[in-house]
Amino acid sequence: AKAAGKNKFSFFAHEIEEGLKTKHDLEMRMRAAIESNSFEVFYQPKYCTTEEKIIGAEALVRWRDETGGLISPLSFIPLAEETGLINRIGAFVLKTACKDCLAWQALSPNLKVAVNVSAIQFAQADFVCFINAMLRETGLSPSLLELEVTESVLVCNLENMLIVLKELRGMGVSIAIDDFGTGYSSLTYLKRFPINVLKIDQGFTRDMLRDESDHGIVEAIIRMAGSLKIDLVAEGVETKEIANELKRLGCTTMQGYYYGRPQPAKAFIASLVQSNE
Ligand code: C2E
Ligand code: CA
Ligand code: CA
Ligand code: CA
Repeated sequence: AKAAGKNKFSFFAHEIEEGLKTKHDLEMRMRAAIESNSFEVFYQPKYCTTEEKIIGAEALVRWRDETGGLISPLSFIPLAEETGLINRIGAFVLKTACKDCLAWQALSPNLKVAVNVSAIQFAQADFVCFINAMLRETGLSPSLLELEVTESVLVCNLENMLIVLKELRGMGVSIAIDDFGTGYSSLTYLKRFPINVLKIDQGFTRDMLRDESDHGIVEAIIRMAGSLKIDLVAEGVETKEIANELKRLGCTTMQGYYYGRPQPAKAFIASLVQSNE
């Protein structure tokens, strides 16, 4: 039994070592990718069902690997956050998104761009200055920029976050709560924080036509947002049926494969031209 235990131990030690090695490799590849500009920004449309057109886009980062394939953010954002590299990747995404959004204005005035911001970036002492500098540098109006943050941003260091969010709001930048309802924060922050938009997580919309409790949660979020005068975006809308039910309940801004997948800027512009016709 002792021998088996020892084997088991060395087996795990080996696993951990492998894990660290892969992690270290990934970090090194990520650093090289930053140096060689191997990150790209894709855009997914946000569609307004009352105006019947695209009113915004969410910027979603992609990593183009050595073979030309795309690496999903789900597989590198966690390590990027752990190593702090998210600050450099995030700065690239933000700058690209601001520049692209400015270019879209000629085609679609007032089209907004939403950029995901990690809690690590938010916690940077000069985050507000950084956003301000980015807007000045690119020339994008602050009213066209929306920052998507998850509830985890609000939970840690509440008082400081309140100040940061108020400064951003003061500049005219919008704040969206991403994956709303999946975090651990309390509902009181909706009253205390200057929040413009709630994004209803796909986890609630996906099964809402079959699952009564999901349907109930979506209905409650829509009603609550209405009385708090907060805008809504439904995430992960994949079918016409779900879109229709969301509309019936009062949610009119949709994002999901049914309305368009994330795509490179060029392809997004083509969808925009089509949506304007
Ligand atoms: P998220 O912010 O919740 O973004 C929505 C994700 O759902 C995107 O995955 C999008 O491609 C996917 N999606 C959109 N519509 C549908 C649909 O109808 N069905 C399904 N099944 N999926 C849909 P993606 O692009 O792989 O991004 C994953 C996550 O990575 C994002 O989740 C976000 O948390 C993070 N992320 C992406 N880009 C950035 C970035 O620039 N900065 C930071 N900090 N995080 C990012
Ligand atoms: Ca998002
Ligand atoms: Ca989301
Ligand atoms: Ca998500």
